[in-house]
Amino acid sequence: MSARNVSRIVVAGAGAWGGWIALCLRRAGHRVTLVDPWGPGNARASSGDETRIVRANYGAATHYVGMGVRALELWREFERAEGIELVRRCGVLWMEGSRDEAHRASLPLMRAAGVRFEELSRADLARRYPQIDTQDIEYAILESDSGYAFARRACRAVVEAFAREGGEYVHGAVQPLSAAGSSLVRVQLNNGATVEADAFVFACGPWLPEVLPDVLGGVIRPTRQELFYFGEPAGDRAFSDDTMPAWIDHRESMWYGIPGNEHRGFKIGDDERGPDTDPTTQERVPTAAMISKTRAYAAHRFPTLAHVPITEARVCQYENTPDNDFIIDRHPALDNVWIAGGGSGHGFKHAPTIGEHVAQLVAGQARVRNEFALARFERTVRQ
Ligand SMILES: Cc1cc2nc3c(=O)[nH]c(=O)nc-3n(C[C@H](O)[C@H](O)[C@H](O)COP(=O)(O)OP(=O)(O)OC[C@H]3O[C@@H](n4cnc5c(N)ncnc54)[C@H](O)[C@@H]3O)c2cc1C
Repeated sequence: MSARNVSRIVVAGAGAWGGWIALCLRRAGHRVTLVDPWGPGNARASSGDETRIVRANYGAATHYVGMGVRALELWREFERAEGIELVRRCGVLWMEGSRDEAHRASLPLMRAAGVRFEELSRADLARRYPQIDTQDIEYAILESDSGYAFARRACRAVVEAFAREGGEYVHGAVQPLSAAGSSLVRVQLNNGATVEADAFVFACGPWLPEVLPDVLGGVIRPTRQELFYFGEPAGDRAFSDDTMPAWIDHRESMWYGIPGNEHRGFKIGDDERGPDTDPTTQERVPTAAMISKTRAYAAHRFPTLAHVPITEARVCQYENTPDNDFIIDRHPALDNVWIAGGGSGHGFKHAPTIGEHVAQLVAGQARVRNEFALARFERTVRQ
């Protein structure tokens, strides 16, 4: 790349998305400053838990399959280059209450992309995983080469690689922006410093409505989500990742989980959106209501876990868009500002693909994808 093409770029937010965006921009030759008030994979961030499911199967939402496949490749490349394990490929089991054709829509795309999977009947499932109560499950898909990412560890590894390769990391908060003019010259940090750049990417996850209130206020809605780690019975490996895959239980409601790893317990999460929340100030202490709801679910689906203790819990937040699709687009008024967010409870796995895509968008080498364009909300939300 010639010196003329090298831009100064500020990326706000060092979660999974901002970290990968900064790394990909740096690898494209730009001078990149990455800013975050609490650090990569911090305890408040949506990317800050121990683990996140990584998969290509998206059921009826087929527009994510290609991204998921590419993300798996990019995670693997990064792991090889760094010599570390960030994705444990224990498989992902997608369980369905009924064999609905719409939920099989991803399968032809996965097959074409060479993703290995098996379709399982209830009898297959019961035979293979006796620790699951399969009475109300009719059908399942086991994606063999997927699994889960070590989430906060991955965020840190990506930002370390970024810094080692010449990127600058600044510990601070970008102040909220209000659009004036047609492009942005600088951002102000909470310590009074300013950072000038030719282009800016805002990847502040659930903080995006606070940082870009004119554009994203009322569009991205952070909701409180609670997760519980159940203690495995003594000496029992039935709930560990050498025996069980990560799983999604997709019926009228959706639950998901990650098998025991590093001796930290079997994780269970409820995908139902919790109450609206503030990611900066919310207390990260679980509620009695969610403890009892999750215990009831665990006892139903995994009877052995009915009487084991909860050994850990996390309180996090989804950053929901109205249709649960991402927002990856140019700011509507500022032509050198880009927005990447709205992971809506499923964004972690895609972070490498999003990094690659945003780096191409900033360089004018890709077009905004319609399904991620801000304009889709103009009529529905801002009327
Ligand atoms: C309970 C739960 C379970 C999930 N399960 C899965 C799963 O299994 N698989 C999956 O793929 N996805 C999952 N997700 C979704 C996924 O974790 C998120 O979509 C993804 O991590 C979002 O990453 P992000 O970088 O956009 O946001 P974040 O990780 O929240 O990062 C945003 C960053 O911005 C920083 N920031 C805040 N304010 C400012 C400011 N003023 N200036 C600069 N920086 C700022 C924050 O400190 C933070 O580091 C889950 C999410 C939750 C909450």
